[in-house]
Amino acid sequence: MTPDRQSKGPILTLLSEFYKMGPGPSSSHTMGPMRITYDFYQRISRLPAEQLIRATGLKVHLFGSLSATGLGHGTDRASLAGLLGKSPAECPPQFLDDLAANPDRKYQLNLGPESLSLSLKDVIFDAAEGEFHHPNTMVCRLMSGTDVLYELEYYSVGGGFIEWKGYQAPEKGQPKYPYEYARELKKYLIDDKIPLARLLLENEMSISGNSEKTVWDFIDQIAEVMIRGVDTGLYVESILPGPICLRSKAAGMMRMQSGKGAAGMALTTLASYGFAMAEENARGHIVVTAPTAGSAGIIPAVLRSLRDINIPAQKIRESFLAAAAIGYLCKHNATLSGAEGGCQAEVGVGSSMGAAMIAQARGEGPKVVANAAESALEHHLGMTCDPVAGYVQIPCIERCAYGAVKAWTAYCIASQENPMERRVDLDTTIAAMALTAREMNSKYKETSEGGLAVSLVLC
Ligand code: SF4
Repeated sequence: MTPDRQSKGPILTLLSEFYKMGPGPSSSHTMGPMRITYDFYQRISRLPAEQLIRATGLKVHLFGSLSATGLGHGTDRASLAGLLGKSPAECPPQFLDDLAANPDRKYQLNLGPESLSLSLKDVIFDAAEGEFHHPNTMVCRLMSGTDVLYELEYYSVGGGFIEWKGYQAPEKGQPKYPYEYARELKKYLIDDKIPLARLLLENEMSISGNSEKTVWDFIDQIAEVMIRGVDTGLYVESILPGPICLRSKAAGMMRMQSGKGAAGMALTTLASYGFAMAEENARGHIVVTAPTAGSAGIIPAVLRSLRDINIPAQKIRESFLAAAAIGYLCKHNATLSGAEGGCQAEVGVGSSMGAAMIAQARGEGPKVVANAAESALEHHLGMTCDPVAGYVQIPCIERCAYGAVKAWTAYCIASQENPMERRVDLDTTIAAMALTAREMNSKYKETSEGGLAVSLVLC
């Protein structure tokens, strides 16, 4: 049973907030900072002309985990791109690659009557340790010489979500079927016999005000971005950016899959899909958070494997809703941030979402969907976040492949057992993840100060 805690109210997360498109490699350290500086850019663009005419520059200060591992995550180039008015969903990956390749180049930003000259040097890796409101804190400043004309403190709170000092959640509609926990959700599904996909769709429409068509169109769009990412990653072979000099593996795995027997071929295919998308993320190309960029290889791998077995398009759409419901529950009752909860919160949640997605797509009932999600999450509890050299490559890329494999394993277990006999329920495991996150040594929360990050010596 979940320990009592103060209610946060019903889950109000929307698909477009959860499945965010943007550049990798990290939702909290790349996509979140880019969303932050793009938000700051939009705010200062609206300042009165008499204030803007005094502006001489922009500065971004990175604190905490963003300072400790931001270089490897491309936090500086993503932050500069946002300041220059590039939106995360639409910025061409080539623009980001060019920023990284030309660290001294100056870029002009036309802001009101004056043009500001900006470079990567305007993004400052500030204090990595200290008392911060959130482990991923940023301060954006509009400067006039040494005077600050306008500033705002922001937080990249995980999964690409952002908040700021004084943040108040936006006004939304109320869900038709309010729930905070899986047990409340299950009451609607089992007692009232409301199909899971219908319930989630109704909630999405009542909270957002969007039509059913808009919801399905959005899901189709993210599915296509994911499939494109997998397909690209399956043929591109390269050394991934950064000091590890890691060679991509997805294409080679696909070529070498024959001769391994049926199980070996199936696992190699699935794992290569996970590698393909995760390697695209490592290249800083466009991914969809699911729930984060570091874990963004799992759901595309599951999706591609469901297409391989000819699951109808509508069932796949509905399975995205089931996956989102698991992510929402984890976000609401625990965390999706490696900097707050270690890798269990990223790859663990991604795998759990994948298990629910498979079960939903295969036409299982809600108990099996929840049990599959529980099983996958349970076997990631305690997994730490210790990216080598601060790059989302080791262990992240292989973890996406394992996350997809564990998602299928969890589905296979949940679909053959008596669903009423499962001893651990989803709420309990989410509560255990939250507890483990709170008690985990901070070295293992995306600081690159523990585990593999300090054990592996790079030549
Ligand atoms: S180790 Fe896990 S949580 Fe940490 S950056 Fe990699 S994928 Fe994200």
